[in-house]
Amino acid sequence: MKDFIRIKGLSKSFGDFVAVDNVDLDIEKGELFSILGGSGCGKTTLLRMLAGFEIPTSGSIEIDGVDITRLAPYDRPVNMMFQSYAIFPHMNVAKNIAYGLRKDGVGKAEIEKRVDQMLELVQLSELKKRKPDQLSGGQRQRVALARALIKRPKVLLLDEPLAALDKKLRERTQFELMTIQDELGITFVVVTHDQEEAMILSTRAAIMDQGRFQQIGTPKEIYEFPTNRFVANFIGTINTFEGVVTVVDEEQIQVYCDEAGETLTALGRQLVEVGQTINIAIRPEKIFVSKERPDNKDDVCIEGIVDDLGYLGNRSLYRVKLASGRIVQVSSQNRRRSITRFLEWGDKVWISWTDRSTVVLLD
Ligand code: ATP
Repeated sequence: MKDFIRIKGLSKSFGDFVAVDNVDLDIEKGELFSILGGSGCGKTTLLRMLAGFEIPTSGSIEIDGVDITRLAPYDRPVNMMFQSYAIFPHMNVAKNIAYGLRKDGVGKAEIEKRVDQMLELVQLSELKKRKPDQLSGGQRQRVALARALIKRPKVLLLDEPLAALDKKLRERTQFELMTIQDELGITFVVVTHDQEEAMILSTRAAIMDQGRFQQIGTPKEIYEFPTNRFVANFIGTINTFEGVVTVVDEEQIQVYCDEAGETLTALGRQLVEVGQTINIAIRPEKIFVSKERPDNKDDVCIEGIVDDLGYLGNRSLYRVKLASGRIVQVSSQNRRRSITRFLEWGDKVWISWTDRSTVVLLD
């Protein structure tokens, strides 16, 4: 598919401070693309440059083949939905949604038709006469979304769209947002610090830190194949073991890790050399915990003691202490219903995993 938004060498400095640092990004038409990063990483600044509220220090932005880098916000085929859903308290739902079209002088009949379509899309037809203070947080969010969509922008920018909603409502609204986006085929660019939200919503995401992209990929690629320690630790939980490469062959690499007290193996397509210090990483849910030593000779297998445990209903979390004192986090599905615990504090256990589940991190 052809790239629809093309960002090339984009930077923004505020005085000496570089908020966005030479970013390249291509987004396809109809994607729901998330920019994910911690506070102050530059994601809002990047979004504001796409919207036209911030002029880049250098670089360019193209949408649908047109260079918009220096166009005013209202000349861009872009609309932005802000963190605080800017809806007018004195107008009812229908008037709020109609606002943009009325300002543009669109005819009354056309406005009515399009408002009705939007109300249906965001499932607020029944509530069109209500004022914002008579709506729930999720309903207000949908009014703001309808208001941003009614002018049919080619690109909708969303800044922390679900931040004001509680967890349950956020989960439901995430799916609604995906359905609406899918129906309209509009390209969405979402800025969020909420990794779960980005994982659920996005076709692809960029992980941002200190003004730069650390990795761009599908949620699955980013979770399963993080390219560096920052991304691995930012998304979900991961155990990393620093070690020195002892063997590199066609299929695998072997890495001696002091903390693990073991040689760990990993699939070795990476460019590593004997003697190099690297990190082997493994997600908690990829680790199997058992009281007996597992039979499979090919698996990595280390003895430890249950240092701490937590019951979360669907799964249990274990912190297993190795002989070196190193804690390894393990997450285990509670497949069977049971009142008694399978493991207790202080139990001697084995943790094991297959080398297919590990990730090699070079930096
Ligand atoms: P948050 O999640 O906290 O909103 P963010 O990733 O969206 O963070 P930005 O708002 O893009 O962060 O800001 C990036 C950096 O640029 C921050 O360190 C911020 O202080 C700085 N910054 C943003 N706007 C300005 C400005 N107008 N003048 C000076 N510095 C600014």
